[in-house]
Parts: sequence; C-alpha cells; structure tokens
Amino acid sequence: MKVTVIGAGVIGLATAYRLAGRGAEVTVVYRANLHTGASNNNAGWIVPGDSGPVPGPGVVLQVLRWMLSSGSPLYVRPSLEPAYLGFLFGMFRACNATAYRNAVDATLRLAAGTLEEFDAWAADGIRYEMHSAGELRVFLTDHEFDAVLGGLDQLREGGYEIDVLDGNGARDVVPELRDEVRHGIFFAQHRHVQPETVVNGLLERTRALGVRFVEGTVSDARVRGGSTVELRVAGEARTSDAVVIAAGVGSRRLARLFGGRLPIHAGKGYSTDYTPGQLPAVRPNIMLCEAHCAITPLDGGTRLAGTMEFGSLTETVSPARVRAIKAAPPRYFRDWDPDAPASTPTAGLRPMTPDGLPVIGRLSSHPNVFVATGHGMLGLTLAPRTAVELANMVLDGTTPAVLAPFSPSRFR
Ligand SMILES: Cc1cc2nc3c(=O)[nH]c(=O)nc-3n(C[C@H](O)[C@H](O)[C@H](O)COP(=O)(O)OP(=O)(O)OC[C@H]3O[C@@H](n4cnc5c(N)ncnc54)[C@H](O)[C@@H]3O)c2cc1C
Repeated sequence: MKVTVIGAGVIGLATAYRLAGRGAEVTVVYRANLHTGASNNNAGWIVPGDSGPVPGPGVVLQVLRWMLSSGSPLYVRPSLEPAYLGFLFGMFRACNATAYRNAVDATLRLAAGTLEEFDAWAADGIRYEMHSAGELRVFLTDHEFDAVLGGLDQLREGGYEIDVLDGNGARDVVPELRDEVRHGIFFAQHRHVQPETVVNGLLERTRALGVRFVEGTVSDARVRGGSTVELRVAGEARTSDAVVIAAGVGSRRLARLFGGRLPIHAGKGYSTDYTPGQLPAVRPNIMLCEAHCAITPLDGGTRLAGTMEFGSLTETVSPARVRAIKAAPPRYFRDWDPDAPASTPTAGLRPMTPDGLPVIGRLSSHPNVFVATGHGMLGLTLAPRTAVELANMVLDGTTPAVLAPFSPSRFR
C-alpha cells in the first residue's frame, strides 16, 4: 500500500516509522526545516501519568486573571475570527469536571505502554537521549497544590506510582530547592528525552526502512476514482492509496481540502537552553507549578520551557514571556542565576483542540484520508501509541477501541 504522511514532526515521523515497519511504501511530505517547530523545541517530557487536558474545572477564571498580565503562563489572543471564537467557546464548554475526568481516562488509555514503546524504538535501533529519573512537581502555595491533589487517584488507577511530599521531601529529591517550596509530587516512572535526538533518530530509522522525504507545502488535494488520493506538492501531483494528515497546526487547513472540519488552533510555547555548569545540576524533570514552567536536565545543559499562547499564528518569540519563564526558577531554587547565558529562545506551536484531546482516525468525508494531530501538550508522550494504533487502522481497516474518543467525527 502506498501511503503519504503529511508532516515530519514527531507524530508524522512515528507514524511513518510504524507504517513502513509493517511493509507500507511511505512518503513523508513536510513544509520546511526538519529541525524546527514544536517537535524539536519542546520540554522533552515522557509523562504518561500526567494526562490532564488543558480545559478543566476552574480554568476559565484562571485565564481571565492571567489575561491581564504580559508575563502570565497562559494568554488568549483576542480575535473575532469565527473559527477561533468557536474553538474558544468549545474549550469553555469542556471546562467541567465530567469532561475533564473522561478526557483523562481516554488519554491514560492511549498513553499506556508508551514507555515500553520508547524502549522498543531504542531496541530497534532508534538512537536518542533518554533519562529515567522521574518527574517532580513543586509548589510554593497550598492553593495550587490542593487544586491537583484531588486528581491523583485517577492517575494512580492508571498504574502510576505517585508520592505526595512535603517541602523537605521535595528537597530530599532535589536539594537545591528553596525552603519556600512547601509541597512536591513525585512521579517515579516518568522520563525525559532530548527532543531533537528523537526527531533525528526517527529520521535516520525511517530512511533506513525506505521512507522517502519530499520537501514542499501541500497546496491542494483531491480524490480520484474513489480511492486514489492526489496531493499537489510544490506544484507537482503525487498519488497514493491513503494519506495521513499529521501536520500539527497546519492540519486544519489540510483537512478542509478533503471537506473535513478540524478545529485545531495553535498554543504557542517557548524554550531556551542553559549550558552545563551555569546552573545547579537537577536530575528529575521539574515542574514549577505556579509558574507553569518546565525544567529539563539534559546531557548538553538545562532546558526551560513554558507558556501557552492561544491563537498565535507564527513562531515569533515574545521577549516578555521569555523573561517571565527565566524569572521563574530563582523563586524555587537557591543559587539560580536568572542572568546566566542561555541560548536564543525558540517557539513551537502546539496543535490544540477545544476538548483538549488529540484527533486520531479516519476523516469522515473520505475513507482513505486519516488524521493524527491535536496532541497539545503531550505530542511526544503520545506519539508512539498514536503511531501503532493509526498504522493498524490504515493497514488493517479496523478501528482500535482505544482510538474511539479521538475520532475526527466528534467535530462534525
Ligand atoms: C514549549 C513546548 C513544550 C512542550 N513540551 C512537551 C513535553 O514535554 N512532552 C510532550 O509530550 N509534548 C510537549 N509539547 C508538545 C509537543 O511538542 C507537540 O504536541 C508535538 O511536537 C506536535 O507534533 P506534530 O508532529 O503534531 O506537529 P509539528 O511538530 O508542528 O509538525 C508539523 C509538521 O507538519 C508540516 N506541515 C504543516 N503544514 C504543512 C503543509 N501544508 N504541507 C506540508 N507539510 C506541512 C510541518 O512542516 C511539520 O513537519 C511541547 C510543546 C511546546 C511548544
């Protein structure tokens, strides 16, 4: 079977890898530089037990408070564009306890087995930097800590070991934390990777499996004879038996070419790297919970990542938000120099959906067109299982039960 995957981010590459591994003749079409964008510039966390979507109880009030500050971790771009307003309204409707609980359940099921999948990738020769030191969430305030405590049992039911710690317990894990840190939550099984090494490892392995790469924007598409899908890429027509749209925030426009409706909008985030030696060595990945800032200790230095800007259209960097990310660690760590030299900050556009769930499955407007996108804050974490299940769907024609909550048809 000839399959074209549109998108060479972690979702497109992982899907191409699984399709090619099962014998499909795969071509990946991608728009621009393979080493930029969300899949390279993320925090690198593999956190299957951290399955909460963005919409949740209390989020609306929090957003309204944060909208007043240019340095807040979450920002909603004001716009009267109907599609964007519909997206925000859908998100508003998903901010309730029942929807949140169901979304966590569905995501936990999709995330199950992701750590084993990453190990299987490594065993199959995909080379990437991975660390298995757990995840520590740290809290300065009782308020922020109390807000997450209630959800931990659902995550434990998913099979995750979660230790609730007081400030001293958190300092036992990371001694450099300040005395002001009052609480910690430790997820022992969580891991982290250097995201660029994952992209590079997948590129190398898929090429070895015979996957072809074509640079160019998909500008048009049509279906011929009921089954052959024709894409126009950089002015040339390319045909295949099936197409997988895994184009991140570009997926909304591509689905429209096939008559599909995907309310995907961008949630921009930033990251910046400090070289080793400039900052205290920290081992697990650490979430500074009030600041919503992630710290990832890597072989080549320490990565800081954060911010969710809804409705951003480009990857331009906002200096105010990067300053806010850099100002967060000194509130939690002793001896953290906020002015230590860091790399030029980069931005990535997370593909977000109104209900906070990915979109994975067949486009109802055409049986040979599939979608794998909308993974929001968990694209790296969910990539391996997304790829396995979608490859099964494309090649076997079945719909795996685990994918039911993620069907594109829910937006019809
Ligand atoms: C700051 C930040 C931190 C994050 N931290 C984490 C984390 O710790 N853990 C985690 O699991 N996730 C994290 N994420 C989320 C994760 O990075 C994303 O969910 C994931 O990278 C999305 O991957 P993707 O392949 O869907 O999209 P992308 O990486 O955006 O790739 C899209 C691809 O589609 C191509 N494309 C688009 N339109 C077209 C077109 N018309 N024609 C041809 N090609 C096209 C692009 O060229 C690109 O190759 C983070 C994201 C950010 C921004």
